[in-house]
Amino acid sequence: MRKILVIYTGGTIGMIKNQQTGALEPFCFDNIYEHLPMLRLIDAEVHIEEMRPLIDSSDANPDFWIKLAKMIYQHYDAYDGFVILHGTDTMSYTASALCYLLENLSKPVILTGSQLPLGVMRTDGRENILNSIEIAADYRDGRPMVPEVCLYFKNALYRGNRTYKANAEQFNAFESANYPKLAEVGVNIKYNEHYIRPASKESLILHQKMDDNIAILKLYPGITLQAVQAVLDIPNLRALIMETYGSGNAPTSGTFISALRNAIDKGLIIVNVTQCKGGGGVELGKYKTSFQLGKIGVISGGDMTTEACVAKLMYLLGEGLGNEEVKYWIPKALRGEIS
Ligand code: ASP
Repeated sequence: MRKILVIYTGGTIGMIKNQQTGALEPFCFDNIYEHLPMLRLIDAEVHIEEMRPLIDSSDANPDFWIKLAKMIYQHYDAYDGFVILHGTDTMSYTASALCYLLENLSKPVILTGSQLPLGVMRTDGRENILNSIEIAADYRDGRPMVPEVCLYFKNALYRGNRTYKANAEQFNAFESANYPKLAEVGVNIKYNEHYIRPASKESLILHQKMDDNIAILKLYPGITLQAVQAVLDIPNLRALIMETYGSGNAPTSGTFISALRNAIDKGLIIVNVTQCKGGGGVELGKYKTSFQLGKIGVISGGDMTTEACVAKLMYLLGEGLGNEEVKYWIPKALRGEIS
């Protein structure tokens, strides 16, 4: 029987209503079997650990990611797979961070959560947890079916670092426009084996440093030079993710371009990712409006999500890499995060 560790970190899935305020807040998961009696029927030995303090995932940060990665690392040899119960709001960021912090993964790490708390009749949490555990415990010929950091939600398993939260209302809260689903769950679990990363043959490495001296600048028509300059002038800023239009386009105004060029010349790394969520990515030089960005040294983030780019920059900078090395690695797939 496979051994699965479920790590509960907080989020809607384990929330109850505070009687006084009416607001949802995390409850203690010790009595999980009360809410999920069929957990006893699952064909795997399931252990549950709670991360303290439990958080709403809006409070996630690099320290939280590192603590979670460390917890998986410490239990790595004792379990065959890991299921992380996490709030949906920043689940894609955590999935992205974990894929870098845990290098050479050879076991499944599946993040899941729910739109409705487990204690509610129509909850989607029950299915999400049970299916995640089943997938995490699915080994064939002694090999795990999905030895990577994944996100499971509403009948679909995704590569974690390709996802983003797209819906706050529907049960299918996540999308992965630039990478196919790793598995679809109906009567049977159908794996898209061709798209699943193979298990690493090397031993697991835990990385424990992330540099948060980054920022995101989302462009919009009418953005002022002062607004752009204020972001570029953030003290100690090492890297900036610039969310551009379409295939990587930005205003062509001379003052805007020279503000970016000055910042790059002074050592800022600028990565271009698109605001388009539904598919495609940055192609510097496709239009005149992005050609100049390439010329002044803006790096293409290709079809990477903003979520993955945040985690990747924090990881690469945390590793102590110099600007040239970071710029070298950004367009390369380290964990299948970019096409
Ligand atoms: N605010 C919650 C969280 O992200 C929402 C959820 O769990 O879906 O922790």
